Amino acid sequence: MHALPLTPPTGALIGDHWVDTADTLEVLRPASGEVIARIAASSAADVDAAVAAARAAFTGELGQWSTFSARARSEWLYAFSQAIDADRDTLAALECADTGKPISQARGDIDACARYFRFYAGAADKLHGETIPFDSDYAVMTLREPWGVCAQIIPWNYPAQIFGRCVAAALAAGNTCVLKPAEDACLSVLRLAQLAVDCGLPEGALNLVPGLGREAGAALAAHPGIDHLSFTGSPETGTLVTQAAAVHHVPVTMELGGKSPQLLFADADRERALDAVVRGIIQNAGQTCSAGSRLLVEQSIHDEVVAALSERFARLTCDVGENDPDCGPLINERQRDKVMTLIQAAQDDGIHIAARGRLADDAPRDGHFVVPHLLTQVPQGHGVSREELFGPVLVVQAFADEAEAARLANATDFGLCAGVWTADGGRQLRLAKAIRSGQVFVNNYGAAGGIELPFGGVGRSGHGREKGFEGLRSYTRIKTIAIHHG
Ligand code: NAD
Repeated sequence: MHALPLTPPTGALIGDHWVDTADTLEVLRPASGEVIARIAASSAADVDAAVAAARAAFTGELGQWSTFSARARSEWLYAFSQAIDADRDTLAALECADTGKPISQARGDIDACARYFRFYAGAADKLHGETIPFDSDYAVMTLREPWGVCAQIIPWNYPAQIFGRCVAAALAAGNTCVLKPAEDACLSVLRLAQLAVDCGLPEGALNLVPGLGREAGAALAAHPGIDHLSFTGSPETGTLVTQAAAVHHVPVTMELGGKSPQLLFADADRERALDAVVRGIIQNAGQTCSAGSRLLVEQSIHDEVVAALSERFARLTCDVGENDPDCGPLINERQRDKVMTLIQAAQDDGIHIAARGRLADDAPRDGHFVVPHLLTQVPQGHGVSREELFGPVLVVQAFADEAEAARLANATDFGLCAGVWTADGGRQLRLAKAIRSGQVFVNNYGAAGGIELPFGGVGRSGHGREKGFEGLRSYTRIKTIAIHHG
């Protein structure tokens, strides 16, 4: 039996206390399949109570959040970031056991979560409106107002980071929150919510409704009492959530999947590029929306690059996250079976597996492991080059010239991130403009997480932006005031 560093709170957080729910759910450890905790299975009635608490905190009937000035919100966010720092080891151990990710990545996620609160603490009092020149007998200004009650539905792959991304920005802008974490992994989020209460967050400013997507998630998305909804997850669920929110004309931000390409030209710094290409696909065992899951490589260096990557892939090791391997297990059996089925289907279509990583000798055989796979000779347009696998599987395709590189990069309905590796300045800019995606990185991939950088998709990757100042603005709406002064 795997021992957790502590038992996170159970129940739904409504106002400032944890309310028992009628049903509970088991939480399994991906590395071994053991039950490590039980969490609340919030019902529609629990969601009603959470939305009511958030509404009361926003209007001032409950708690003090509505009376907090921008400066007071900033001070609370900063104090909370310090509480996260102080609890880093416990939070990281929970995240590692719950998601299966390597402990160093879990620590990085907790650090990123704390940084979101620090970044938005600094930004909370810098949300300016505008004055607008109009007819000479008018003064016109805009105010950036909070939406009110913000609903947030988040996935299991980066629970602590995505909690930080949504909650810090929403609170900084003066909103209150009802968050539905994912049933597969949410222990760090439960702990973070408890820390927020302990840190003096006014009652009702943050409410948590753990539980199943089709129950708690669906009830929250369809709730008439929410003013804004931010969803991070799969495109299919994103469609359902958008339809539910549209009934009450609730605006949505959709952070969905990806099939992000890295374009490697012969004139690039190849060693740096290959390091980033490997990191970009094995991070969190490929279960990252912005995973660089396609490598597009200039024809003249294709064979050398595949040989160099094959050596690197063969050295990659999977093990339990606590041993800090290259890759941990996938989140659950269903996800592992899905990825293995897609790899098999690709092989059946003649796609070549150039290299595979290995499983550590003493890794538990019940864990949901998929070793890293390098797929080559992938025909243009094949499903494995267009669809998100959400596993450590890198697809390699060759291009003849810049135009073909751009065409292949855009040969998917997704558009979240891209990497361009070339020393040619003109080509860097031409491709950055030509690629249809929310972020383009030149001679790097991911800019080390960059919480300051606006993030979000195009097409099937979603719409709206989180992170950075743009993310803060998305948690506000504009009011225009036109004063006729005669
Ligand atoms: P998912 O869509 O199954 O679940 C996401 C969340 O939605 C969970 O909390 C789940 O309980 C909830 N949910 C499920 N059904 C629901 C319903 N009918 N109504 C309301 N809520 C419901 O996705 P997942 O499998 O947890 O996550 C993987 C996906 O998320 C991948 O496609 C990945 O690319 C994407 N993702 C995107 C980002 C981003 O920022 N763009 C970040 C992480 C993950």
